[in-house]
Amino acid sequence: MDFDEMVRIDQQHCLHPYSSPSKPGVSVPVVGAEGVRLLLADGRELIDGMASWWCVIHGYNHPKLNQALQDQISKMSHVMFGGITHPQALTLAKKLVDITPVKLQKVFFSDSGSVAVEVAIKMAIQYWAALGKCNKNRMLTVRNGYHGDTFGAMSVCDPVTGMHHLFSDIVVKQYFADAPKCRYDSVWNEADIKNFKDILEKNYEKIAAVILEPIVQGAGGMRFYAPEYLRQIRQLCDEYDVLLIVDEIATGFGRTGKLFACEHAGVTPDIICLGKAITGGYMSFAATMTTNKVCDGIGRKNGVFMHGPTFMANPLACSVANASIDLLLTYNLQQMIGEIENGLEEGLAPCRDMPGVCDVRVLGAIGVVEMKNSVDLPKIQEEFVRRGVWVRPFGRLIYLMPPFVITRSELEFLTKQVVEVVSSLASSSSLNRQ
Ligand code: PMP
Repeated sequence: MDFDEMVRIDQQHCLHPYSSPSKPGVSVPVVGAEGVRLLLADGRELIDGMASWWCVIHGYNHPKLNQALQDQISKMSHVMFGGITHPQALTLAKKLVDITPVKLQKVFFSDSGSVAVEVAIKMAIQYWAALGKCNKNRMLTVRNGYHGDTFGAMSVCDPVTGMHHLFSDIVVKQYFADAPKCRYDSVWNEADIKNFKDILEKNYEKIAAVILEPIVQGAGGMRFYAPEYLRQIRQLCDEYDVLLIVDEIATGFGRTGKLFACEHAGVTPDIICLGKAITGGYMSFAATMTTNKVCDGIGRKNGVFMHGPTFMANPLACSVANASIDLLLTYNLQQMIGEIENGLEEGLAPCRDMPGVCDVRVLGAIGVVEMKNSVDLPKIQEEFVRRGVWVRPFGRLIYLMPPFVITRSELEFLTKQVVEVVSSLASSSSLNRQ
């Protein structure tokens, strides 16, 4: 299949994420990937600034990860997890227990981030129900959050930028506090937590858990907030007897410069959701971890936890996750992410003074240029591809989240393209949505 034929068949038959099912846009045909580069069907190469939506931390086609899968495939690709266990799941469970906060001792494997969030919500609700508090079944979250596309997950996504308006009668009504305003590195302002505290104080008897993304609000706005906010939330959850779920699906496994973002605040959640980079971006897989206390609660009076995906703890996914985490632990994460952070800071700095830009922010291996207006996605994507990079903005946000193995010169090239495109946006407005 050549480039054009791939585009044609794709438009005829494939639906893509968040896109029109009747007027499909052009999807770029990729036929291979190596390191930080995507190979297109017409022979061009793009430097990947997205790490395939935050996942591909070690780069594509990594020999160690390939080897792990090949080794496992020759033993057993899949086996059901109901009533059966296997070495890769056990190794991974122990590894995750070792690298996450010490109280998180139990692991539930599932298929994707959204499912990991559903599992977390169900754990919290079942926990309180088992303790005889069936009314404690709502979630409290903060605006600008994103937790996935399934119904439970959607119910805790930002009610405005999320999909609530489309499913308003079906999505469970949850509690929403104002999004944290205090930026990651700014001085803590006590007023920031007030709205959250008020809602919790009034409604804690109906709230099973607080759920939020720690430190970085990703798809809901790429905002970085003060660690103190998370610390205060932990304290308030303890005070009002509410569980704390942190969704580390996007932040986990090093992206923010710490192995897990809740380390910025020194906070231990009651439930943590992991996904995306857990397999180094090789396949869909996720984990929801919790404490003995939550499990013992759910298990009271012979209670069982009511979830069990067909592909739970898939051995191939577990094997590549084991290899990916082993590899990650060999890195000097602080130095590696620190260098990317510096590269993003320096590289994106020229955007700060450009008209049309309202903010430039960097945390760890995440660099964001926030525009005043939404960008014209098809046009801007085409322009980035023409320039040899893969950058996929959303809304007003042009952001970079490269694989951790990106070199200094590759990162310079990437940021230079962003700067030039942003500058052309400022001067021509042709890539802005009218
Ligand atoms: N939570 C967060 C914080 C996410 O960023 C995402 C995915 N962007 C999800 C949950 C959902 O994960 P998945 O797409 O694997 O279902």
